[in-house]
Formats: sequence, C-alpha cells, structure tokens
Amino acid sequence: SRPALLVSACLLGAPVRYDGTAKPLPEGTQASLAHQWQLIAVCPERLGGLPTPRPAAEILEGDGRSVLAGQAQVCDAQGGCHTAAFVQGAHLALALAQRCGARHALLKAHSPSCGSGRIHDGQFGGTLRPGDGVSTALLREAGITVFSEQDLQHGGLPGLAEAVPS
Ligand code: SF4
Repeated sequence: SRPALLVSACLLGAPVRYDGTAKPLPEGTQASLAHQWQLIAVCPERLGGLPTPRPAAEILEGDGRSVLAGQAQVCDAQGGCHTAAFVQGAHLALALAQRCGARHALLKAHSPSCGSGRIHDGQFGGTLRPGDGVSTALLREAGITVFSEQDLQHGGLPGLAEAVPS
C-alpha cells in the first residue's frame, strides 16, 4: 500500500490559514502525489486550538527549535503570544504522523509552524531568515523527513523514488 505523507492542510485546499484562505498545490500536483502516497492533511495551528481567521504570527528571535526549547515565543504583530498553541499543535501533528506511520511530510514554506529551512524573521516585514517552523523542527527531531512545496517546484519531491517501497 502507499506510504503515508503528512501534508499541510492549506496545501490540500483547506481554508485554514490565518487569513481564512488556502494555498493549494499547483494544478495536478495533489493528484500525482496521491498516486504514490496516502495524503494525510494536518494543520498544526488548528490542532493547537487556534481559530481561523487569526492574526499572523511569527517566531520572535529564534526558530522552531528554540521555541521547543522554551527559548523563543510565537507572537502576532499586536503583541499577543500564542506559543503554547504552536507547541501543542506540533506535538499533535507528530502524534498524527506516528499514528499513520508517516516518515515524510510536505509542509508549507515559511510558516512559523510548517516552514522548513527559512521562516519569517519576527519583524513582520516579509523578510526571511534561516530556521524551521515549530512543527517542522519537532517532526525532524523525531526523524521525519520534511519537504516544502518549493522543493516540488524545484524538480520533484526529493527522495521520492527511494521513499516509495518497490
Ligand atoms: Fe497551513 Fe501549516 Fe499554517 Fe496550518 S499551520 S495554515 S497547515 S502553513
């Protein structure tokens, strides 16, 4: 049977982003992924109890790893902090991955939860800096391989061939 792939719910068309929109994958991508993977939708921020819509949040002075270590906060531009919800959402996303046996995840770029490799810098000006979102950091700590939709745009899901059992 197809291996499980955890996917950001907003990439699968669910309108769960902070502004009430989705960010669907390019036409046809979801269908071709679904040929090889069992797609498991997850929105860590909603799992953590945050509503839609919600204020846009960024990790202040750190990354997902520092949030998990209790050394950074996830806050909105109005000064409200939602760190506990982001951490809880990450743990619930990991629990879902483990329940489904998912060893891979495709998560939305730049998000304070789902971003991989680059996230917003905490200044709310659209600037990115190196780092993973909170859920990505936790999934990677648990040995799950995380890609973003930008990896798809750059020539396919890396590791896809090796990851699919023959
Ligand atoms: Fe999408 Fe992840 Fe943000 Fe949920 S937390 S809206 S899945 S990027």
